[in-house]
Amino acid sequence: MKAISVLGSTGSIGTQTLQIIEEFPDQFRVVALTAGKNLPLVVEQIQKHAPEVVALADESLLPELNERLLALSSENQPKNIPQLLGGPDGLNAAASWSTTDLVVTGIVGCAGLLPTLAAIRAGKDIALANKETLIAAGPVVLPELKKSGSRLLPADSEHSAIFQCLQGTPWAETARLSTGVPTPGLRRIQLTASGGAFRDWSTEELKNATVSDATSHPNWSMGKKITVDSATLMNKGLEVIEAHYLFGIDYDQIEIVIHPQSIIHSMIELADSSVLAQLGWPDMKLPILFCMSWPNRQETPWRRLKLSEVGELTFRAPDTAKYPCMSLAYSVGRAGGTMPAVMNAANEEAVAQFLKEKIHFLDIPKFIEAVCESHKPDLQNKPSLDDIISIDNWARIALREEINRGTIKTAIPRMAV
Ligand code: NDP
Repeated sequence: MKAISVLGSTGSIGTQTLQIIEEFPDQFRVVALTAGKNLPLVVEQIQKHAPEVVALADESLLPELNERLLALSSENQPKNIPQLLGGPDGLNAAASWSTTDLVVTGIVGCAGLLPTLAAIRAGKDIALANKETLIAAGPVVLPELKKSGSRLLPADSEHSAIFQCLQGTPWAETARLSTGVPTPGLRRIQLTASGGAFRDWSTEELKNATVSDATSHPNWSMGKKITVDSATLMNKGLEVIEAHYLFGIDYDQIEIVIHPQSIIHSMIELADSSVLAQLGWPDMKLPILFCMSWPNRQETPWRRLKLSEVGELTFRAPDTAKYPCMSLAYSVGRAGGTMPAVMNAANEEAVAQFLKEKIHFLDIPKFIEAVCESHKPDLQNKPSLDDIISIDNWARIALREEINRGTIKTAIPRMAV
């Protein structure tokens, strides 16, 4: 039985991971859970999964969590109370818990970086959903993986598709174990993109885009931040950088193609010009399960794909003028060093300000680009972990200052943040 730790257990990735564990109790058990501040759900998860340890990012909630668990255990059925930890040290300790085999990283944003690194340093295998960690800190994460022997299994559906396709090639061993090292014979990656909430909106219509519009995804049910990233297509830009680090492939060999049905989850082209694709209904449980069962395949009763039900699979080139985040991500990825960390942090802050209705949807890329521009003279090629943490912090402040400065022509009048 595989022992699983779930970082971000109260989120979309976390809850789907726990559903899988519930569905296959002979295969998987929960060892550690971490969450931000959703106490009611954490309590429910502790009752159901009896983890050894639970960590909350918000340390101040620990006494209340303890009280709630004590109150429940004093009722008829006594429960084992797990070890309760809090704050950054608590998250790191839970992420590197000794009895864990695989850590599913479902924390949103760069907040996942330190716990993921703690798990890697402890030699744990990682099911990586938290892409921001790799994007911000690729130059730090890759050498740590090499040092500890920890394996990074992609849980993001597109990267899982690429990883699954690579299993069937003569280079499967390299593709499995050498994150960041070029996979021989891999000529091109085609990342598919649903196009997000606004894929059929005109530029004129986008001027009226609201938070509620941007947080409703046509195909996938996900957390708010990644749903907005899908609407700006920054998510696809982030995935280009993620693919570069995971598969050691050049930016010139990564293409984005809009595929509104989200049935083909991505494709690889090999040296002999053959193209392999992985298909399935859009359901994150599949790529998460593949990480959990890899290198095996778990039999499931899940809905089987019927192409006659799908009808059509269509493809088109992305509109980079309407969605500038994609081109920005390519140039940021090529610049390398600290630049992806800056773009990632600026994006997290811009999305947060958009969700608070302080900036307009169309202004998100403008502010991110301005912050990246101002980082150019300070770019560091071989950043340390401390460099990345401090640059992440700087970029968030720089983005708020950029909004307050009011020199960028915006779609709505600026508001102080
Ligand atoms: P959600 O917003 O649904 O969940 C985020 C999780 O992170 C919650 O458990 C939340 O806790 C926790 N969290 C929030 N802030 C912190 C913090 N500062 N420290 C520690 N924990 C924190 O996000 P998703 O599940 O949608 O996404 C998670 C990651 O997976 C992202 O990186 C995303 O890009 C990636 N991903 C997600 C996909 C999806 O289908 N959802 C698909 C592919 C990738 P709480 O709620 O208790 O505050």
